Amino acid sequence: MGGKCPHRKVKKRRLSHKTDRRSKFLRKGDDAVYEELQKPDAENKPLPVDEDLPGMGQYYCLHCDRYFATVAVRDEHFKTKKHKKRVKQMLGPAPHTQLDADLAAGMGMPDNGPKLMSM
Ligand SMILES: [Zn+2]
Repeated sequence: MGGKCPHRKVKKRRLSHKTDRRSKFLRKGDDAVYEELQKPDAENKPLPVDEDLPGMGQYYCLHCDRYFATVAVRDEHFKTKKHKKRVKQMLGPAPHTQLDADLAAGMGMPDNGPKLMSM
């Protein structure tokens, strides 16, 4: 009796489960991200402060549509393979929106679905 919640050691409890779910629900489609990247001022415009987001929504990766708690975490993310792959993808021709939408909605191969979501 009285087992501890496995997530108790997470300091910022407010961000623990919620952000995971949010990113699933609010995740932009690849086509939306791609469109954002076509705007010349997309990387320069000031980010809106959002207390619900990690780092108040100030550390954002446009390519992956992800928010980070600190600039250090974001810079780490910029070095990851996933991010670089993503940048490459976004620099290329417009993404296959239907396929990606299906995968993002969990309708694709079960093996790949969860991995894509946790980017
Ligand atoms: Zn990224």
